[in-house]
Amino acid sequence: MTAKKIFNAAPTKTTTKKSLPPKVSVKKVINKKEDAGLPLSVVIRRRIEAQKARFHANDNIAAFIKPGELDALVDEVSEKMQAVLESLVIDTRNDHNTRNTSRRVAKMYVQEVFNGRYVDQPTLTKFPNVSRLNELMIIGPITVRSACSHHLCPIMGRIWIGVLPSKESALIGLSKYSRLTEWVMCRPQIQEEAVVELADILERKIKPIGVAVVMEADHFCMQWRGVKDRDSKMINSVMRGSFLKDSNLRREFLALIDRK
Ligand SMILES: [Zn+2]
Repeated sequence: MTAKKIFNAAPTKTTTKKSLPPKVSVKKVINKKEDAGLPLSVVIRRRIEAQKARFHANDNIAAFIKPGELDALVDEVSEKMQAVLESLVIDTRNDHNTRNTSRRVAKMYVQEVFNGRYVDQPTLTKFPNVSRLNELMIIGPITVRSACSHHLCPIMGRIWIGVLPSKESALIGLSKYSRLTEWVMCRPQIQEEAVVELADILERKIKPIGVAVVMEADHFCMQWRGVKDRDSKMINSVMRGSFLKDSNLRREFLALIDRK
């Protein structure tokens, strides 16, 4: 079996194409009278609960958020972040360094590092497998920036994805692997669950014969706090389909990813 190795798939410009409707369909999102005066987070939470959907830290809740509401959510988080700073007895009024920290942190959470909770899955343009490729493809390393659900401490690492497409598989553009990874990782995560979610989406979208995901990361909750072990890394792998059944394929994939 020949292998095609692709490193550092560079993300391309975002397409303006309208994304597909999210998987969770919200039948009715009405501004009920009883929502008036409630914090926006409570209103959104009620919509989620009405649909009996889950809203764990690593769940995406974009289907329950209306256009324009993210800015209002930043305002709410900012207010509560200010209360945290006050409880930490920090003089945000006289300390010029922390005067706007609450807003900066709120924006960072909602618009950047946890944005994968609040926006729709990136559009994954699919191509038919015209040349009927069925050889091993490896994409990576893709840079991972995430945070642990337990302490909201950064998780910084890399991911490698292996795909063995079938002749009938729909292929997705290379940059889409990076975009999808970013979308899953920009949430408070647990590494073991994050790799499984990524593998699930890839399986669903590409319908390959096999898919493999390997993630290696530094967990700042072990470096900045806790045991303060600077060199510990966590490595996880998910092997599906042919990667699970065929030890030669698995060996080939693991040998080709260069984790140095
Ligand atoms: Zn942690």
